[in-house]
Amino acid sequence: MKVLVINCGSSSLKYQVLDMTDESVLAKGLVERIGMDGSVINHTKTGEDKVVNEVPMKDHKDAIAQVLAAIQDPAHGVVSDMAEIGAVGHRVVHAGEMYAESVLIDDTVIKALEECVELAPLHNPPNLLGIAACRELMPSTPMVAVFDTAFHQTMPAESYIYAIPYEYYEKYKIRRYGFHGTSHKYVSERASAMLGKSLSDLKLITCHLGNGASVTAIKNGKVVDTSMGFTPLEGLVMGTRSGDIDPAIVTYIREKENLPLGEANNILNKKSGVLGVSGVSSDFRDLEAAVEEGNERAALALRMFAHRVKHYIGAYIAEMNGVDAIIFTAGVGENDISMREIICSDLENLGIKLDPIKNKVRGQETVINTDDSKVSLLLIPTNEELMIARDTFNLAK
Ligand code: ADP
Repeated sequence: MKVLVINCGSSSLKYQVLDMTDESVLAKGLVERIGMDGSVINHTKTGEDKVVNEVPMKDHKDAIAQVLAAIQDPAHGVVSDMAEIGAVGHRVVHAGEMYAESVLIDDTVIKALEECVELAPLHNPPNLLGIAACRELMPSTPMVAVFDTAFHQTMPAESYIYAIPYEYYEKYKIRRYGFHGTSHKYVSERASAMLGKSLSDLKLITCHLGNGASVTAIKNGKVVDTSMGFTPLEGLVMGTRSGDIDPAIVTYIREKENLPLGEANNILNKKSGVLGVSGVSSDFRDLEAAVEEGNERAALALRMFAHRVKHYIGAYIAEMNGVDAIIFTAGVGENDISMREIICSDLENLGIKLDPIKNKVRGQETVINTDDSKVSLLLIPTNEELMIARDTFNLAK
């Protein structure tokens, strides 16, 4: 079976077509500027050059129609007929407490996801638009939703309840949900394969360090804690997000700067993190270049990022009473050799020793600890699309 994977954002959309007989990627692409001037589709058939096509796309239905045309294109397509696509897998950010696993989409699921829009106002609406467009254009193809929050649903209440009046959990479902679940799950499964041990015998800490970043504690294959919370703002210092701060700061800045409603949220989500501290960039490559030129605040931002990752590693070792392996993934985790070095430095007391030579690697599955390190340190490139395709295939077949 061939599976189409769709990850729909507000103005962009990523897609892949996978052949599930060998899990190979047949084609992938990116649609940008949906609903704006200059909308464009970038399509790459595996083994061929990227094809860029500027076509007006006024909404997500137009965008999906372009994706379907690209994958059926006689020159660069990968199917001759849409009937060859056995199922479509959709990435959906928030399922609240509704789903702890991926699910075949029907009207009941759509209704449940619409109820979650309040919890993820930026993410769920475009996800739902992508689903609606696919259902309209491919009415007889099974659709599956794969949720960022699902893997974290095993957390115990002491991890997910906030210490605010309990009625807010009951009335508004305010609790920690956690995100990047598909990625944390994928790398935990790969770690188990690399270590040759069953997940049920492992204590893992998975560090998804990208533009958005989160750390998850996984004991016996189940999430016991994660750093992102009610929204993806909590936890680590990120590219543009503050992560944990004293909530009193929000009211204080609002009063001092006379900010309109919603602006504080915007500042914490879009103008904070390593960008806010450095004033340079949210991209770690730019920050490292700035440090080379002697920029002190860029150096501070990077130290703060590493400090917070360390903080969570320490916390999760305590929560799980130990750790067998720490995994690094996503843009920074997979590529930033010096950041991995800073994070893992001075942790010998916890049995964590990074091998600086083995660590000199980017974007491939590698063991990066010294031979005498008690804790395994693993670099594992994430693959959320493959996880979505697998769940989609399993539910649709
Ligand atoms: P997201 O999916 O959250 O947008 P990614 O996981 O793709 O983010 O990570 C993107 C980030 O990875 C970039 O902003 C950059 O900071 C970092 N990154 C990518 N390549 C490198 C590299 N070679 N060295 C350091 N950082 C890198």
